[in-house]
Amino acid sequence: MITPTELIDYLKQEGVPAYRSRQILQGVYKEGARTFDEIETLPKDLRDKLQAELSILSFEVLKEVTSPNGETVKALFKMSDGALVEGVLMRFRDGRNSVCVSSQVGCGLKCSFCATGTMGFKRNLTSEEIADQVLYFDQYLKRTTGATAKDPDQSGKRVDHVIFMGMGEPFLNYEAVMSSVRTMNNPDCLGIASRSITLSTSGIVPSIKKLMDDPLQVNLAVSIHAPTQELRKSFMPIANAYSLDELIATLKDYIKKTHRRVSYEYVMLRDINDSPTCARQLAELIRGQRCHVNLIPYNETYLGFSNAGKSRIDAFREIVESYDIPVTVRVSLGQDISAACGQLAVEEEEGKGSANAKLMAE
Ligand code: SAH
Ligand code: SF4
Repeated sequence: MITPTELIDYLKQEGVPAYRSRQILQGVYKEGARTFDEIETLPKDLRDKLQAELSILSFEVLKEVTSPNGETVKALFKMSDGALVEGVLMRFRDGRNSVCVSSQVGCGLKCSFCATGTMGFKRNLTSEEIADQVLYFDQYLKRTTGATAKDPDQSGKRVDHVIFMGMGEPFLNYEAVMSSVRTMNNPDCLGIASRSITLSTSGIVPSIKKLMDDPLQVNLAVSIHAPTQELRKSFMPIANAYSLDELIATLKDYIKKTHRRVSYEYVMLRDINDSPTCARQLAELIRGQRCHVNLIPYNETYLGFSNAGKSRIDAFREIVESYDIPVTVRVSLGQDISAACGQLAVEEEEGKGSANAKLMAE
């Protein structure tokens, strides 16, 4: 759905009074209208016109796969130029509904453990294409839970968290990403608290610097994954462009300037970065910062890396915690449908025939 500003401009051009934009936003974002025709507060001729000229979702939904326990829903979206991206809804037992969005088609950064990286970079998504992934799942929840706009308590029936951990590097598509975040945050649109929106980056230093000056209080997650430049470079080529030293120095500035906490993401790859030495080196590197560490159990793909396993993850956690650094281990939903975050890649295009592609083809 185009942004409120674009909507007002459009209505103005068409000679339609501006107050109609509020009714349209109310219909789409609060009442879950999937076609303009469903917005009954609008006159019929305007509904017909909108129907002919605008679309609520900027893409088609090709497939939707729900995990057997209903906790995870993965959707395959087809953009107007045919590009395919995935988004995931995770319904946590405590009532939180989190959407993992894609920010690019593919990703050019080629981290060796990441399925999206093997696709290469195809293009940036627009702000509308990013925000619409959240709109789609918000409407899905309204529809499946019977939520209405008049519900005093919509908890559990709407999207309340967003993480940019689907396909792509959000900080190489900064402007569109931030514009989509504003739509998500806008109370007239999705109304998601900025503190419940997390941007995840592999460490694009210039964009981290830009974020420091943005008043929006979003969360920053940094995919650190290794405690030394040498190791990091061996499986994250982006470390050649922005070294670990430069990244850490920038994050120190970020914390100082914004007083926000940084979340360090650390994917646990067996025999690569999961040793007690790595845990100590990581803790030494970031101790004293306002931060926390999120250990990510690796979702095995066809790329040859293995999950470190629970006992090594627990040992790693204990060491980092002994430096007074808070550590969490990510609860990963959706492995059974290849929908865990960071595991998204559209593979049927290339006919790789993975479990992922098979599920999508069903
Ligand atoms: N490009 C950004 C955001 C998308 S990737 C980034 O790299 O941060 C989101 C997260 O998923 C990253 O931390 C990434 O390292 C992680 N990830 C990628 N593949 C994964 C896999 N197979 N299992 C678990 N995490 C994975
Ligand atoms: Fe791109 Fe992130 Fe995957 Fe690296 S982990 S290839 S940056 S999507």
